[in-house]
Parts: sequence; structure tokens; C-alpha cells
Amino acid sequence: MVKIYLDPGHGGSDTGAVGNGLQEKHLTLAIALKVRNILNNNYRGHQVRMSRTTDRTLSLTARTNGANRWGADYFVSIHINAGAGTGYEDYIYSGLSNRGTTAQYRQIMHEEIMKQVDFQNRGSNQANFHVLRESTMPAVLTENGFIDHATDAAKLKSDAFLDQIALGHARGIAKIFQLPSKNSSGNSGNQGNKSPSTGNETHSIVDYLKSIGEDSSFANRAKLAKSYGIQYYTGTAAQNTRLLNALKSGKSPSNSAPKSTKRVHLPASASTWRTYRLNVKPVKKNSDWSLTPAAFGGLTYDILAEPYPNVVTIQTGRGRRNIYIGPETGARRL
Ligand SMILES: [Zn+2]
Repeated sequence: MVKIYLDPGHGGSDTGAVGNGLQEKHLTLAIALKVRNILNNNYRGHQVRMSRTTDRTLSLTARTNGANRWGADYFVSIHINAGAGTGYEDYIYSGLSNRGTTAQYRQIMHEEIMKQVDFQNRGSNQANFHVLRESTMPAVLTENGFIDHATDAAKLKSDAFLDQIALGHARGIAKIFQLPSKNSSGNSGNQGNKSPSTGNETHSIVDYLKSIGEDSSFANRAKLAKSYGIQYYTGTAAQNTRLLNALKSGKSPSNSAPKSTKRVHLPASASTWRTYRLNVKPVKKNSDWSLTPAAFGGLTYDILAEPYPNVVTIQTGRGRRNIYIGPETGARRL
């Protein structure tokens, strides 16, 4: 069993780099969770452990101690860059040879990630970072774009782009450790360009539920599936697709009365939709997080309140938030 330790950089009181309305700690966690899901949904023969799975403060020592005590085979630390540059780069510990195992692993990660993203290639480097130095197994640190660079930040605001970054990481890890694909049994080893469809579907239902503020656990998905007449839910790709379509259709579950709640639909043509904390004025400069309707084929929310004209309160994966739905935005009231 190959042990993969994923380390989303920063967290809690340590935001990491900030810029363009983004915080590094949120992006690194989102990417790492996606890497974990892709690995677990599409590959066998490994275990994943994460230094953190929530937004919490964690020392560098706690991160390396966690990996060292567990006996991880690979330490992957995920970061976002800042400081007047653009593009992707990665690091191994400066005390290592550029031809050793860790460097070879880094090269595979680098190639697989660059295949998935359209970042400028800043190459592979060495650094004396704590997590690279104090981890007792091969370790890599990836810097996925510059949060303070407008073009990079625009990419990082797209959940679909974070998916691509994660896919590159997962494929790199799978290639390094030659993890067998879950699809490989029974199809004569033809896994060449098969995309991880199971993973993406599971992944989008989880993301969708989070985006509408619903519990995305397996138990709740099973409950929802039942309410929409999907029997014996085990989380197959087909069931997830049916459930996602049922939820997005806005239809009420078959066994409950139709709701009379007013709702708003954000169209699939919108790649991002600014949201605002309830305690700030809903003007552009105060937006610190965006929804991504395009990534979900549109999003529909219950309107919980309308605190200003054309500004409504909705429940999102980050709690209650305000959004602007003026006539020029393309939002539709249902
Ligand atoms: Zn960082």
C-alpha cells in the first residue's frame, strides 16, 4: 500500500498569500481535496492522508511529524505563489541531487501538471523549505500560479481550473507509484486516454452539494438519491449523474410536496459570480469569493432574503452569502 501524504499549504490564521480577492489557504485546500478524490476514485493500491482537511492553523512541524510518523512514501505540499511573477514551478530540498529519486519524482509531477494547465512553465527548483527538509521521505512542493498576478488569479477563480491542477497532481502521483487504475480490470489494459469519468462525476455531485450548502457526505447523498427514486445508491457514476441531473433540474423530490420558496437561477453562461459576506456592502471590491455557475451547467438557489433591491441572500458552501442578481446579469428568478 503506497502512502501518499498531501499537505495543503497554510490554513486557519495563516492565510498564505492573498491577492485579487483570493486567499492561498483556501485554494491549496480545494486542490488537495480534489487530488485526494481523484486518487481514491480512480486508482487502487494507495492510501491518502492529509495534513489538514479543513481551514485550520497547523505548524510546519506538525505537518512533517504527521507524515514521518505515518511512514508516508511521498510528501506533496501544495501552494500558490506570490511576488511579481506568473506560472507554475516546483521544488525539492536544496540538499538533494538533481538526479536522485526525489528529483525524478519531481520531474514526473512537473510534466503531468504542465500537461493539464496553461500556466507559464517556470521550471523545477530547489529550496531549503521546512517541509522539504524535515520530511523523511521524498517530498515535493508545488507552486500553482501567482495569486497577485491578474491572469493567474483569474484562472485560480475557476473551479474547473482547480480540477485540472488536481488532475495533474493525481496523475503524477499515480505514474510515480504505478498505481493501477480502477478501470483497468476487465478492459484488456486499455487505459491509455481514458479520462477518470467516475471520479469527475462523484466529484461534481460533491461540489454541487457543497455549492448549494447541502451536506455532501455519502449518507446524505444516499438519502437524496432515495428521495429522487434512485434505489440502492452505492455512488456509481451513473447514479451520481442521475442524482446531479435531478438536483439541477430544480424538481422537488418525488416523495415530498413542492416547495413554494422563491428561487434564483444563475445561468451556465456565467463563469464566475461574485458573492459577498452578509456584513459588507455588496459592491465589487468587497467580494472575496465567487461561485462558478458555468462549472455546474448553471446553479439554482433558494432566496432566503432580499436585503437590498436585486441583492439576495443564498446558502452556499461557505455559509449564507449575498449575490447581486440585477436584470443585466442574466440571473433568472424562478
Ligand atoms: Zn504558500
